[in-house]
Amino acid sequence: MTADAVHPRTFGAGPSRRHALFAGLCLCCLPTLGRAAESFAIEEVGPGIFVRKGLIADATVDNDDAIANVGFIVGKTGVLVTESGGSLADGRWLRAEIVKRTDKPITHVVLTHVHPDHVFGAGAFVQDKPVFIGHAKLTEALSARGEFYRKRLIDLLGEDRTGPVVYPTMSVADTAEIDLGDRRLTFTAHGPAHTTSDLSMIDSGSGLLFPADLLFVNRIPSLDGSLRGWLTEIERLKTLGATRAVPGHGPVAVDLAPALADLSGYLTVLRDGTRAAIAKDVPIEKAVTSVAAEQRDAWALFDTYNGRNVTVAYQELEWE
Ligand SMILES: [Zn+2]
Repeated sequence: MTADAVHPRTFGAGPSRRHALFAGLCLCCLPTLGRAAESFAIEEVGPGIFVRKGLIADATVDNDDAIANVGFIVGKTGVLVTESGGSLADGRWLRAEIVKRTDKPITHVVLTHVHPDHVFGAGAFVQDKPVFIGHAKLTEALSARGEFYRKRLIDLLGEDRTGPVVYPTMSVADTAEIDLGDRRLTFTAHGPAHTTSDLSMIDSGSGLLFPADLLFVNRIPSLDGSLRGWLTEIERLKTLGATRAVPGHGPVAVDLAPALADLSGYLTVLRDGTRAAIAKDVPIEKAVTSVAAEQRDAWALFDTYNGRNVTVAYQELEWE
């Protein structure tokens, strides 16, 4: 694991500790305590760059889907939101944190990819009339899945905490740059990898890379695009000139090289194990329990996502 990595067992212990904590409390306290200050503190990870670490958990009624690392960059001319949050409630929380710290206008909101924990906070920023920046394939992906995700989130959080599906108003097909007066943000639209709409960003003010879910740290990556493509895009991330990054999930900032090595280690084991299973005619139902099992202790939420990852990998690799 990376130098910055908290040992995964620490994360594994998190939810059970929280449950133990809640056991002695009345139910009405739960929603508030679910957003404990410790979990939701914002850290300044670079000059004018603020990040909140997402919970290493799945969306629950108590956590407002605040499971991704979200944050903002304060530039000379305005604020850019690096990730909007996992629900309208989460986005409102983030917006409140911004206005506490600066009275500059919120001019840009990045929608890093289609997944709900990265886009449903956007509704909280519509009032600011920012530019919503997304991958050129994001509109299509949101059209296909946005309402499905929204209904699922409404079942969990209720309509007023979920919010609308917000579409990008600026799309990036290859690369793009925006200027906040004293710093430039350079965007790269990636090929199919974690999803088919992954957008990364580099801040010229700090040199930090914001790869969103192209980089998971400690939490098991979830595959929803292309396994071979993701391994290719990892190589591309290495060429962008950054040494530190703010991952989509995990610590608020990490050294890039070891974090990418851990990620590509898992994806390589997933690829090679799936190929071996296909070669031996192991059926998919069996492969999901055996492929990459040796990685179990290295990743939080392994049992929730590894089987799905094998399924996606199997479908991609069986025709190669
Ligand atoms: Zn994602």
